[in-house]
Amino acid sequence: MKPDADNNLSVVLYAKRDLRLENRSVPQPGNNEVQIAINKVGICGSDVHYWSDGKHGEFVLTDPLVIGHESSGTVTSIGNGVSHLKIGDRVAIEPATPCRLCFYCKSGRYNMCLDVKGLATPPTDGSLCRYFVHAADLCHKIPDKLTFEDGALAEPLSCGIHACRRAGVSLGDKVLVLGAGPIGIICMLVAKSMGASEILITDIDAERLNFAKKVGADHTLLIEKQQIPELVETIVATFGGEMADITIECSGAESSIRLGVYATRPCGVLQLVGIGKQEVMFPIVNAAIREVDIRGMHRYVNTYPTALKMMASGAIDASVLITHRFTLEQTLAAFETFCDRASGAVKVMIECSSPTLSSST
Ligand SMILES: [Zn+2]
Ligand SMILES: [Zn+2]
Repeated sequence: MKPDADNNLSVVLYAKRDLRLENRSVPQPGNNEVQIAINKVGICGSDVHYWSDGKHGEFVLTDPLVIGHESSGTVTSIGNGVSHLKIGDRVAIEPATPCRLCFYCKSGRYNMCLDVKGLATPPTDGSLCRYFVHAADLCHKIPDKLTFEDGALAEPLSCGIHACRRAGVSLGDKVLVLGAGPIGIICMLVAKSMGASEILITDIDAERLNFAKKVGADHTLLIEKQQIPELVETIVATFGGEMADITIECSGAESSIRLGVYATRPCGVLQLVGIGKQEVMFPIVNAAIREVDIRGMHRYVNTYPTALKMMASGAIDASVLITHRFTLEQTLAAFETFCDRASGAVKVMIECSSPTLSSST
């Protein structure tokens, strides 16, 4: 079915707390691009930051921006030069478009591209809309077994895959995950599938830990008023007298990064995933003399095919994260639910297909 020229309901953020539904024109694909009828978009912490604060990290909202970047849909039109996709294909959309020309792109580390355009990152519009155009090489076919929701979840799953690859998770590792938000849970699921023998996940919120336990955490630890030495002692006791081989820090909190250093065994890895303040005090000498490698990460690279294959094989079920579902028209309620701790929201999914078009999950 061909979309009407202006039937492109889009969620546009005008300013902090000013979210509007707007009918925009339907974009047409250029060379090497495809037009996609968006089916599902997952809400991510970064979308919510733009909505609640008008900024996220160093990116500040200055002009109206379509938000959303964890998306999937059906190809509805194809630009010149596209050979691997056809109309009707279901695709997961890898959101950041690299230049493909710079040193980092050429060396396969396109997540470090010097000229990348990130969806829903000012000034590039996101995909929380009915129709969207994207570079075809960043649209990955969704295996038949998987749903559009799985396709959208390939985005957060990619973060977990890149984190665990960077950390070098391997068979038998005891992995400590600090922070049980959506990304902490995803890192836990990925670490498990990569062979971790035991996973201990921490949080300051008991509800989040209950959720983590339900979806596969071996151990949980509620962080309250304990001092770091006491926490390390508990972690070591939980791991049967051993420190963590790998710690994946997903909160960005200074106290948590400090704990990460002290809880990781000599020659282990502390993987930083969460981003908090720019400058953090932590015991770098302790890490240095014990050869604890501290690694960072930025987005992900070559993870979408892996994410889709791991979900299709059944090795990872990312859909366990989904706690709430809304329609495009209900986006504001979706954001409010995401921000309401009492709602227990982990991953909120938005259905974007037009009610007049036939669609399924
Ligand atoms: Zn995201
Ligand atoms: Zn580049």
